[in-house]
Amino acid sequence: MILVSQPILGAEEKAALCDVIDSGWITMGDRVSAFEQAFAEKHQTPDAVAVSSCTAALHLILQALGIGPGDEVLVPSMTFVATVNCVLYAGATPVFVDIAALDRPLISLADAAAKCTAKTKAVIVMHYAGYVSGREAWRDFAKERGLLLIEDAAHAAGADQAGTFGDAAAFSFYGNKNMTTAEGGMVTARDGALLAKIRQMRGHGMTSSTFQRFAGGTVGYDVTMLGFNYRMDELRAAVGLIQLQKLAQWNDKRRALTHRYISLLSEHCPAVRVPFAKGLASKVEYSSHHILPVLLPESSARHDVINALRDSQIQTSNHYPPVHKLSFYRKCFPSVSLPLTEEFAGRQLTLPLHPGLEDSQVDWVVTALERVLRSSSQTLKGSEDLVA
Ligand SMILES: *Cc1c(COP(=O)(O)O)cnc(C)c1O
Repeated sequence: MILVSQPILGAEEKAALCDVIDSGWITMGDRVSAFEQAFAEKHQTPDAVAVSSCTAALHLILQALGIGPGDEVLVPSMTFVATVNCVLYAGATPVFVDIAALDRPLISLADAAAKCTAKTKAVIVMHYAGYVSGREAWRDFAKERGLLLIEDAAHAAGADQAGTFGDAAAFSFYGNKNMTTAEGGMVTARDGALLAKIRQMRGHGMTSSTFQRFAGGTVGYDVTMLGFNYRMDELRAAVGLIQLQKLAQWNDKRRALTHRYISLLSEHCPAVRVPFAKGLASKVEYSSHHILPVLLPESSARHDVINALRDSQIQTSNHYPPVHKLSFYRKCFPSVSLPLTEEFAGRQLTLPLHPGLEDSQVDWVVTALERVLRSSSQTLKGSEDLVA
């Protein structure tokens, strides 16, 4: 089976895990600090805070920025549910914003502007598929309105400019992301004081950690804020350090595979649109190429396409069912309507993309998709004849 995504883990990660076990210190020690430093350097930011997940990172960011009850936060709906859940964790109200266009499924600046109210406190941008876009425009948008700007950079580890937009950014190291620690996340922020607050909040709000008390010989601690247990352990940090070294090379491979997909699809499946393809061709997009989203022709039955590809041993996925359409969110916010997001979601298909994929497998996927679309357009024609 050709999988949508696949982690790459091997001998180096195993050895790093054994080292941690042999060292006798298994959480929040030297490796976590080293991982934070290395990640910050790679993303050209002075410091970073490692946490247990990207979801935890987002929650900490909102909490540390003082976002809470009575505040509105502009969010995309074309994202993973965690982007929006964190707003509810903070007690604030998410305000759903449409995407910019069908071939640009990023949160729309124009729709965000239209949905600003006196209560709007922040905006969360999510770098869909790894595309980091519109930094200056979002900075201006936030500055003019006095809003906080937060990045959900779960897709964008290693992408140029990721984590450099606004007040803070959250990265994910979940198993299907561009680099993994199985579970894990990272916060970057420009303001050192904000990052210090997030660091303290990650460990119950305590003024010193177990490691600091051990290393520095202090015995006591105080709790000066409401904190959480969102710590990362040494095992994950050790794996993260290894993965981080390979990230740039993996992202290069993802880029090459993406370009191969784009040129083969335009030749063999011209009715299939690839979001961001134009920007990539003219080199105006920064991306970590996390996933390969395509937009099927309006006429094709996606369910049949998915099943036919599965019969050819090709796994596909859907990024994403819009958050505002999920049962829980429909109950909470019944009147939300986002026409472009809904159309995109109805036609979107995610094709396999990961650094372990070979060129010939990309060719196989495109050939299979071409075959499926041709036969489905014939059945469609057949049924039209029948109706006529
Ligand atoms: C994966 C993902 C998250 C959540 O990451 P975790 O590390 O699993 O908490 C959040 N937002 C987006 C866009 C994601 O893809």
